[in-house]
Amino acid sequence: MLEVKKVGIISCSGEEFAGGCLSRIASRRVLESSRPGRTVTICLPLFLAGGEEERYFTQNFPTITIDGCEKRCAFRATERLSGKVTKAMTVSEMLGQDVAIDAPFSQRQLNSEREKQIEKVRIALTEAVDEIIGKTSEEDVITPLNPPPGMRLL
Ligand code: SF4
Repeated sequence: MLEVKKVGIISCSGEEFAGGCLSRIASRRVLESSRPGRTVTICLPLFLAGGEEERYFTQNFPTITIDGCEKRCAFRATERLSGKVTKAMTVSEMLGQDVAIDAPFSQRQLNSEREKQIEKVRIALTEAVDEIIGKTSEEDVITPLNPPPGMRLL
């Protein structure tokens, strides 16, 4: 059996606070730029609605939850629906509660301050992925992936 080295990142879907916006954008950047091919993001609303592949993944692969604020919606939903998460993170712990509960913003409103905040969250998430499955090595590149039955690699 070949090992599939991937980590699922589950971001809260908060639209009411800046923390939710920061966690979503940073997660996307880890997936697309920092650790492409080694991470998948899981859609929290689909997961909550019972998406089978999403639940299969969270039950069988390491997961990181990243929440905007102390309410920790993604963490609590994941633990309730699929068991223990590997690492739980919150924007409020990283950047402070004031930043986390600031007004939400859109991608069009990004400025240098927001970029710095996103970068801090992105780096912390990337380090968490590396802690869990190690840094990318040549072996990872040449190891063929063989997903378990019923699962497609995202
Ligand atoms: S963790 Fe906070 S920001 Fe995220 S969805 Fe829940 S209340 Fe909203």
